[in-house]
Amino acid sequence: MRGDRVTWIYAVERAVKNNVPKVEAILKEHPYLLDLAMKVREGKTEVLRNLDRYVEETIKSVEKSGGRAHLVSNAEEAKEIVSKIVGTGKTIVLGKSMVAYEAGLRKHLEAMGNDVWETDLGEFLIQLADEPPSHIIAPSLHMTKERAEEVMRKIDNELNNSTHEKIAMTARKFLRDKFIKAHVGITGANAVAADTGSVILVENEGNIRMTTVLPEVHIAVAGLEKILPNLQLALYEALVQAAFGGLYPPSYVNVSSGPSSTADIEMKRVSPAHGPREFHLVLLDNGRREAAKDPVLWESLLCVRCGRCHLHCPVYRVFGGKWGVPPYSGPMGAMWSAVVYRDFGPAQLCVHSGGCREVCPMKIDIPKVLEELKKRGLKQ
Ligand code: SF4
Repeated sequence: MRGDRVTWIYAVERAVKNNVPKVEAILKEHPYLLDLAMKVREGKTEVLRNLDRYVEETIKSVEKSGGRAHLVSNAEEAKEIVSKIVGTGKTIVLGKSMVAYEAGLRKHLEAMGNDVWETDLGEFLIQLADEPPSHIIAPSLHMTKERAEEVMRKIDNELNNSTHEKIAMTARKFLRDKFIKAHVGITGANAVAADTGSVILVENEGNIRMTTVLPEVHIAVAGLEKILPNLQLALYEALVQAAFGGLYPPSYVNVSSGPSSTADIEMKRVSPAHGPREFHLVLLDNGRREAAKDPVLWESLLCVRCGRCHLHCPVYRVFGGKWGVPPYSGPMGAMWSAVVYRDFGPAQLCVHSGGCREVCPMKIDIPKVLEELKKRGLKQ
């Protein structure tokens, strides 16, 4: 236990040193990102005030582009629909998705007899270690390089005194084979455009690009709050998330609108082409509709999952991923534990330093939300 604590202190200090100045430099160099963030806030607010209408529009747009949309109320329904699409005995690659974790999809699909692999390096490490994530964009943040090497020895027992590059290369070699064999790719979504039904995914590793393109079937699982009114704002959200997460410019921005298609013969559009023959969007409610109507909690749905509030919070820097209900941790996780799990416990730990509010791109008044959740928790 003491070893865990010491490792965490080293790991989080290294992350703060690497990430905090980087985000500040990005915002200084590209000041337009602050304007984009405010436009995203307006767009998300518009959707949350008219959620049913935008959900309906999104579903129609997905169907129009040749995909299938599935609206599900809770994690059980999400598992049920994904199981029906996937079946058993398949190889499945997962792009980093908090909603998939929230719904318990990986373990459920494994239990059904599928070979399921996380392909984001951080998610892959925590899958190998069988540990919960400790940060929303860097799930293996609690692992130092030394610990990551130890975990990676499960697939290459010759690793010794490895560099960061060597550890990343080991994962790359192992997962290439899974990408090639995969029947199904499952991702989350940084944003979903209501007017086109497009799913936007931003990344640096290239794993999401392969997950969305190589398998025959692509399933995107997204929370209702990921909907933006249009493709322009959805793309803005991806850029804002990447910048405030410290990864700007992103290596890849992926737009998936239905299955693959071609119009190269007489300009008649047919499907599939080289990419997936099936595209499914699973839209998960799981408490989000109720939260959208809540006079205080609604603000938490504006979160773009940049993970910036974590590193500016003294409570997170002590407790790490143990603060919140996985996969949601840190200040945003204290809010989201209430949204999806009705757990008001994590909010009680907030010390109201206010650092989170200062750095949040969506200007969410996180301390105010947590103050209210504290009161509700005490009444329970
Ligand atoms: S609450 Fe704000 S700072 Fe924290 S992850 Fe969400 S958008 Fe980022």
